[in-house]
Amino acid sequence: METATETTDIAEASARPLRFAIIGAGMAGILSAIKLIEAGLTDFTVYEKADRVGGTWRENTYPGVACDVPSHLYSYSFDLNPEWSHLFAPGSEIQTYFERVADKHDLDRYIRFGDEVLRCEFDGGRWHLETASGHTDTVDVVIAATGVLHHPRYPDIEGLNTFAGDAFHSARWDHDVPLIGRRVGVIGTGSTAVQIVSAIVGEVGHLTLFQRTAQWILPQVNPAYSDAEKAAFRADPGQLVQLHDSLSQLFEESFANAVVDADSPQIKMIEKACLDNLENNVTDPELREALRPDYRAACKRLVISEDFYQAIQQPNAELVTAPIERIEPGGVRTADGVLHELDVLVLATGFQVDAFMRPMKVIGRNGAVLEKVWADRPVAYLAISIPDFPNLFMLNGPNGPVGNFSLIEVAELQFRYIMQLVELLRTRRAREVSATHEALDEWEAAREEAAKHTVWVTGCRSWYLDDRGIPAVWPWTFSRFREEMAAPKLEAFELVE
Ligand code: NAP
Repeated sequence: METATETTDIAEASARPLRFAIIGAGMAGILSAIKLIEAGLTDFTVYEKADRVGGTWRENTYPGVACDVPSHLYSYSFDLNPEWSHLFAPGSEIQTYFERVADKHDLDRYIRFGDEVLRCEFDGGRWHLETASGHTDTVDVVIAATGVLHHPRYPDIEGLNTFAGDAFHSARWDHDVPLIGRRVGVIGTGSTAVQIVSAIVGEVGHLTLFQRTAQWILPQVNPAYSDAEKAAFRADPGQLVQLHDSLSQLFEESFANAVVDADSPQIKMIEKACLDNLENNVTDPELREALRPDYRAACKRLVISEDFYQAIQQPNAELVTAPIERIEPGGVRTADGVLHELDVLVLATGFQVDAFMRPMKVIGRNGAVLEKVWADRPVAYLAISIPDFPNLFMLNGPNGPVGNFSLIEVAELQFRYIMQLVELLRTRRAREVSATHEALDEWEAAREEAAKHTVWVTGCRSWYLDDRGIPAVWPWTFSRFREEMAAPKLEAFELVE
C-alpha cells in the first residue's frame, strides 16, 4: 500500500511545471515573487520598466509624500517592520522598506529591470511576451501587478505648455527645481496636493493653491515611535503582529465599512470629525466658506491631514477658487481676469485610473483584444480574472477594494486566491483557467446594485466614479472581500482540460 508521502511524491512528480511572468516590481509584484518562491515555483521573471523596485513609492517623491494608511498596517503580514519611524511613515521610508524586503528575498536575480512588456499574446495554450528591448518570453501564467495610480493625468488646460517657469506633475517631481523663496502654484486639492502644500509652505516665497473642488479633511496626528517602542517591537515580534491585526480591524470597522454604507453611524462620525476640523481650525470666515465642501465627507476619497488647514492659513499661502481659464508664460490666469504670477507650477491633478496594464497590448484566446474588451471600461471577475484571458491574473485590478485600506492586505488576499487557481493548472485539473462571461456579468450587476448604497454616489465628482457615475471600487464590506477571497467558486471559472 502507498503511504501518504509516496502519494504526495507521485502527485508532485506528475505536476505540470509552470513558468510565470510577473509584470511590475512594485508592492504587488514583490509580493508575488516572494510567494511563488515560497511555493517552490521559482521558474519566473519579474518584468519592471524602471530601474528599481517600489512602484508608486519609487515614482512619487514629492515633498510630504506619505501613506495615510498606518505603516504597521501598510506592511507585508509576513515581513512586519519594527523600524517604522511614525504612525504614517514618509514615502522614502516606505520605498526603503520595499527595497529591503526585495533584497532580503534576493529578488534582483528574478527581475528584469528597465524593460517594459509591450505585448502579451495567448497562443497555443501559453502566453508569449515581447518587451521594449525586443526580448521575448513564453510563460504559462501571467500575473499583472501593474498598479492602479501610475499614469499621471495632465489637466486639459489651455496654454499649459506655454508656461515659462518650471512645471511638472506631482508624480514626476523635479528635485532640481529650487523652491526656497519662489512663487509656487499647485493645481488640485486631492491627497497629493494637500501633502505637498503642508510640506512646502514653510519654504516657498508664495504658495497659490488652485482649488476646483473643496475637500473634507479628516485630522489625524502622526506621532513618532520612540526608540523604546521600536526596541520592544524588535524584541517581541508578536507585538507587531498584534498591532498589525488590531489596526486592520480598526480600519475595517471605521473606514472600510463606513464608506459602503452611506447611512452608517461610522460615516456620521467621520463627517462630524471633518466638520469640527473645519469649524474649529479655520479662523477666517471667508476662507472657511471657501474650504467648505458641498458634498458629504468620504464621497471623494477622504483626505487625511493634521496640518493642511494650518498651512493654507500661513501669510504666504493663498487659496484661489476662481476657475482656471488658461496658463500663460507668466502664470495662471483665472476667470476673474487675475494673472497669478508663478515661478513653479505643480500639477497635482491625479491619475488615469482606468489604464491598469495598458498601454500593453494583451491578446487572449481566439484573438480577443483587451483594448476592445475594455473599450467601455475595465472589468475583471472579482478584480482578478478576465473571460477569454486564461491564466492571466490581476492584482489590484479593476473594481477591487481601493478605498482607504491597505492595498497590501488586499493584494495578499488576492494572491492566495490566485494560487488556488494556479494549483488547478499545476495539478493538471485544467490547462486554462479564466472566469466565465456569466460569472463576470453577474458580478458586475451585483457590484453596480451594491454601489447604490455607498457614500461614493451621494453627489460628488471623484476618480472612483466611472463614465456612468458608478463607483469602480469594491462596494461591499471588507469581510465580504475576505470571504470571497478565501476560495474560488469553481463554477465561476471556465476550466479547459
Ligand atoms: P486626485 O485625488 O484625483 O485629485 C486630483 C485633483 O486635481 C482634484 O482636486 C481635481 O479637482 C484637480 N484637478 C484635476 N484636473 C483639474 C483641472 N483641469 N483644473 C483644476 N483642477 C483639476 O489625485 P491625487 O491627489 O494625486 O490622489 C489620487 C489618489 O492617490 C488618492 O485618492 C489616493 O488614493 C492616492 N494617494 C494616497 C496618498 C496616501 O497618503 N495614501 C497620498 C496621495 C495620493 P476636482 O476634485 O474638482 O476633480
